[in-house]
Formats: sequence, structure tokens, C-alpha cells
Amino acid sequence: MGIVDEDIVRVRESTDIVAVVSQHLQLKRVGTRWVGLCPFHAEKSPSFSVNAEQGLYYCFGCQAKGDAITFVREIEHLDFPGAVEWLAAKAGIAVRYTDSGENEGRKRRKRLVEAMERAVAWYHERLLTAPDAKEARGYLRTRGFDGEKVRRYRLGWAPDEWDALARHLKVPDDVLRDTGLGFVNRRNRQQDAFRGRVLFPIFDVQDEPVAFGGRVLPGHEGPKYKNSSESALYAKSKVLYGLNWMKAGIVEADEAIVCEGYTDVIGFADVGLPRAVATCGTALTEEHFRTLKRYARRVVLAFDADAAGQAAAERFYEWEKVYEIDVAVAALPAGVDPADLARTDPAALVAAVEHATPFLGFRVRRALAGGSVASPEGRARTAEAALAVIAEHPSGLVRDQYVMEVADRCQLDPDQLRRRLAGVVRGEAAKPAPVAPRADVRDHRDSAEVEALRLAVHDPETVGHLLDEVLFTDELHAAVFRALAPGGTMHDVLARCDPAAADLLQRLVVEEAEGDAENVASLLTAAAARRALHRLDAANRRSFDAERSRQIAWLKMAIEQVDPDDPDEGVRAQLLAWLAEEATRAEENDD
Ligand code: ZN
Repeated sequence: MGIVDEDIVRVRESTDIVAVVSQHLQLKRVGTRWVGLCPFHAEKSPSFSVNAEQGLYYCFGCQAKGDAITFVREIEHLDFPGAVEWLAAKAGIAVRYTDSGENEGRKRRKRLVEAMERAVAWYHERLLTAPDAKEARGYLRTRGFDGEKVRRYRLGWAPDEWDALARHLKVPDDVLRDTGLGFVNRRNRQQDAFRGRVLFPIFDVQDEPVAFGGRVLPGHEGPKYKNSSESALYAKSKVLYGLNWMKAGIVEADEAIVCEGYTDVIGFADVGLPRAVATCGTALTEEHFRTLKRYARRVVLAFDADAAGQAAAERFYEWEKVYEIDVAVAALPAGVDPADLARTDPAALVAAVEHATPFLGFRVRRALAGGSVASPEGRARTAEAALAVIAEHPSGLVRDQYVMEVADRCQLDPDQLRRRLAGVVRGEAAKPAPVAPRADVRDHRDSAEVEALRLAVHDPETVGHLLDEVLFTDELHAAVFRALAPGGTMHDVLARCDPAAADLLQRLVVEEAEGDAENVASLLTAAAARRALHRLDAANRRSFDAERSRQIAWLKMAIEQVDPDDPDEGVRAQLLAWLAEEATRAEENDD
């Protein structure tokens, strides 16, 4: 469905990606590529790179990547066919469609949204008027939902029947399924997804309904919350409940509050903070963060962020840096959610947001409060725990500000703590896990394997025959090489890749290849030969074999002759052939 493949290729090939990107940022030529300030994240030095020849871009800061179509999709907020049409218009190409001449993808989405809208209206009407919704209305009243609020957030009631909605909607099976509103059961009948629940419709930022969150009434069976499953309309990792209503408030305050429940979002609005959004049954994702960044520079977490653990903390620090968003934590009383507090003590909820503390400060205080400071041993243990938390933060300046707090609380010498912290940061002491290194250029410059791949990407014909899969010890690097080996356009190559390999490849495409191909090939060949030598040596120690001994002697000599500074090309080629053969033999022996 959609635009004819041929025309998509034609549009892609006749598009000058540099011209398209240049409408949004200033690109500067550096060597064979173009660089500029990334339009998808905040930055002061350019990490957005474009390879004009391959028509691909990659950002080293936020890992945004793709071709001209992806770029237009992201920056103009279009769907795929929309972006192709946008580019086709610029290039003066009339695209053809696989169907009746209309954009099938968008027509389809429209049909699904229409079904959702009818469902929202029907469920809403049921809640307001149906006799069987009496208990639901009573429950909502006890939770502070008056008629006005029920209407504003378009709350609904799914009756306790199998197919009440489906009978009302009368939509085809695929529409029922693709909206997540229902499914076809084993008796081949349409069945509703929600039954006996209060429904909170979830809208995307354009105010179109894409999903429902359903809450069971107290005292009834079933899990407390049930959400729509992911569908053609609904991606949990992207949608934030409430953003459609709250975006104006978020922009005005330059701050978004992130909570976990639908009623929390509404509770915040009730106390005069109309700037909360909720993740819908998932952890806060980078997509969510990227979305919020468009509206505000500060995010206040109104849930137990510490419970999410160290991995989540590291992601938050990373995103703080990449998106230039401050992350703070609202100090809510333990075990009380914002919706409850909004009813019982509105002033306390407002104060919790007002006095939100930076994320690291919140975690350090948590660690200090959790330890004993009654004895010297207790103070040392408590300080160690707090230092471990501080060490996770990537900025030395930020880390140092919290050392004093630990010193005060544990009555220890700040300088001693600083030395200790430096040790933890360097990984000398027990630290839960190392902070994952940022995937940026420098980390990879050092690796000869990556340099070989980079050279192969930029000059496949010359470099390809100098290499073989057997030279790559890293499985990801080997996968990239396997995808490159058959040749074709970069789009063909990417189509052969899994996501991790595609990610690496798209970065390599916009990087400058600096090494000398023969030099890098010699380095890798010699390294692979040394690995083979070790294997043969070990095998010979287990049981001596004369033929193997001859091979060992030959390998030792050959390795000498492929010295990267002055390699013997003939020997290097022989070695490569031998290694490839040995790998094939090893595989056969495995079988
Ligand atoms: Zn970026």
C-alpha cells in the first residue's frame, strides 16, 4: 500500500540531502562530509553529519539518523508517504500510488482514528447516562471527578458485556483489531477489548484518540489497570497521556511534570499545575524525553524515580546532557500518589513540585537517609554508599558539590572523601557497574576493526578484497562486514543489517576514513594470524602434530613479514587466504 517503490527510490535518488538539511541548519563542509548543529537535540558544537554521496545523516550526540525521507519525516512531523510526497514536490516528481491514486497509508490512519473517535464518544455517553454506569459514576465522584471534569477528559464506561462496543461500531474486523478496541474471538465473533472498566481515553499530541487506559472498579475482579495494547495508532514509548491538554501549560511554565497515572495528571491540573503528563504503563523513554524537550527545559519527576534503579539514573543523566533538560524530583510523601495528595492536601502537592530537588541530590539524600551515622563504621558505610551514587554522575563539577553534603552528614574530612570519590570514578573501588561509555567518534577511532569497516564503507572496491570476515573479533563488526561484502547501494547494505549493525554503519558513513587501507588490513591480518598461532600452539601442547608444527613455523615467519609499516603484500594475501580457509575448516569440524 502507499507510494510505488520505484518512485520512492526515484525520489530518494533525485534528492540532494545537503540542500534539504540546509533549509533547517547551516552545514559546513569538512573533508568529504558536511557538519552542523543538530536540529533534533540542543548542542553548541556540531555533531550532526551528512554524507552527501550516500544521502545519509547521523548525529553523534543523539544518534538521530537516516536518509532525506527520515529527515523530512522528523523535522516536518510527517508520516512516511507524506515525507516522500514532500520531497517529490521539491524534485518535480509525480509519484504513483499502489492503490486508487490516493495515499493509502493516511486514508487507513484516518479510518482507524474515526473508529476511535466513535468509541470515545460512545463510551463517554455510556458513563454519563447509562443505568449500568451508576456504580462507576459513584466511584468517580468519590475520587473528586465531577461532571465537568468527566467531560473535559472525556472519561468513559465500558459496560460489563462481551461485545457492546463492537455491536455499536459495526466496523470491519481489521479496524477493530488495529485500533486495539477489540478482536475476533475463537468463535469468529467480534469481541471488545475493555469490559467493566472506567476508561481514560489517551490522545496523541494532535488531539487524536489513539488508545485507552481502563481502571477496574474497586471490589471487582481483574488487574487494576488495563491499557490498550500497542497498535497501528499507539506506541507506548512515544505517547504521553495528557500532553494534548497540557502542552500550553508546559510551554508557559517551561516545565513538565512526569507522573505515572492518568488521575495524577488530572490531580496536578486540579491544584493549578496544568503541566503534568503520564507515561502509560512504561518507564520514561528517550522518545518521551525528546518529545518533552520540544516544550520545556525542565522535567520534574513525580514518581519514585529512585526505585527505577541505577540504569534509569544513568539514562537520566545522559538525557539531561544530550537534551539540555534539567531533571528534578518532587519530594512526595512515601506511598502517596499525586492524585490522592491533590484531594487531601493540595498545598503539599504544589510544594512538592516547587521544592523539587535535582535528581542527583535526591538520590544522594536517599542514600544518606538510608544509612546509619551512629558509629564510625556506620558513617563510613553510609559515605561509601553515597559516593557510589555520586560517582555515577558524568560531570566532575556536579559530583564535587555533593561531596560536602556527605562530609557534613557523615562527619568526615571532605578532602579524604574527594580522593575516595576519584578512586570510585576511576573504578578502583566497588562500584555497582561502570557508566556505559558514550558512543562517539573518539572511542572508535582507536579500533583497527572499525577503521577497516570505515574504509570499506567509503571505498568498497579497493578495500573489500583486503579484508575477510575472519579478521573481525567483534561480532557486531563482523555483521557489518557481512552486510557490506555483497556490495550494492548503501540502502541495499542497510536492508541486510540488523538494527545494531545498521546503527554502526550509518555512523561510519558520515565519518572520515583516515587510515591507509593496506596498513589497516595488515594490522588486522597479523592480529588474526597471532590468534591462530596461539590456537595451534595450544593444540600442539595437548598433542604434538608435525604438520601443525610446520604451519606454526610458517605463521611465525609470515607474521613478521606483514609488519604494518612495510607489509609484504604477497604474504599478507597468502595469510588472509589461509585464515579464511582455517575458519571454514573450523566451522566444518564444529558441524
Ligand atoms: Zn542530535
